[in-house]
Amino acid sequence: MEGWDGFSLTCRQWQERMKETGQPAFRGRQIFGWLHGGKVSSYQQMSNLPKDLRERLEEEIPLHPMEVSLVQSSAKDGTRKYLMRLWDGEHIETVFMRYHYGASLCISSQVGCRMGCRFCASTLSGRIRDLTPGEMAQQIYLAERDTGETISHVVVMGCGEPFDNYEALCAFLELIHDPAGHHMSLRNITVSTCGLTERIQDFAKLDLGVTLAVSLHAPNDEIRKELMPIARKVPMDRLLQACREYTEITRRRITFEYALAQGVNDSPDHARELAGRLRGMLCHVNLIPVNPVTERDLSPSKDGRVQAFLRILEAHHIPVTLRRELGRDIDAACGQLRRRAKEQEEKDGSGSEM
Ligand code: SAH
Repeated sequence: MEGWDGFSLTCRQWQERMKETGQPAFRGRQIFGWLHGGKVSSYQQMSNLPKDLRERLEEEIPLHPMEVSLVQSSAKDGTRKYLMRLWDGEHIETVFMRYHYGASLCISSQVGCRMGCRFCASTLSGRIRDLTPGEMAQQIYLAERDTGETISHVVVMGCGEPFDNYEALCAFLELIHDPAGHHMSLRNITVSTCGLTERIQDFAKLDLGVTLAVSLHAPNDEIRKELMPIARKVPMDRLLQACREYTEITRRRITFEYALAQGVNDSPDHARELAGRLRGMLCHVNLIPVNPVTERDLSPSKDGRVQAFLRILEAHHIPVTLRRELGRDIDAACGQLRRRAKEQEEKDGSGSEM
């Protein structure tokens, strides 16, 4: 919690802070309401707060507001990809998508990532730092302000490994679920992990109603180890066991993410092996042809290969979908926008403007 900003304090923490400073009982909730109503980014804008309190708060509990530094929008489907600038000059990516059930936001949980997955651009320079709960929440508020739409669904699937920033993730969930703030339903939230089993077990015990997505990407340990360093520590059997426990406790269907890379994990045999491992699980497989990343050596599977893979899973009664590819015309794989901004900055030897 060390160093968390004003956006990261829960309603209860705000109430306690305000009580300690001799403020009236309603004050903490009032400030929390301002912050998580999503329309302000400074204490100065909180017009019903005494001026001296605003000044004091500015000194004592910095808000560390973020700003949108770049938007790429898709002319085809309204997808908007944001590069957001944090108070210390770091950047993260956030993606706004429109679905038939509402507006969904893909948010980041860390600046960079230390999981080292071979196909992923976010991890190329390692993890720079964790995001605070407030920085996770602010991504929602900035996207809502930019689009004028209410975001009903959140997927924690941007840069970073959310279970590598577990305490902040749980605090973020509390913040956005709070009726005094955004009051988002936890059932509309998906958290995606590369498979930190102990955290999956801890998270299951909380039984929040959140959907868990697990990045599997392989039908066996041998292939998984080639793609994801985490597989060297956690065998698939143990990972799938933790997933079974998650579904038993929460009764929530798990999503398995599977990025298809040509000649690596996309053969009919791989599909059959995968179906065998997932048999009987309360799950759903989400296939996506791998997004080519300039610095990486993987290419997306061809359409025919993808369709064949899908049909084999279906024949084995494994629920499966092909991820709807939104924002194809603006698409750079996750983490690439941030990398480009960084490269540009280094070239310019200057600030954050692109
Ligand atoms: N660390 C978490 C969440 C961030 S990654 C996780 O591993 O799940 C979000 C999802 O995008 C994961 O399923 C990840 O494996 C996938 N992904 C990353 N790079 C990709 C790429 N180049 N093509 C396809 N999927 C990718």
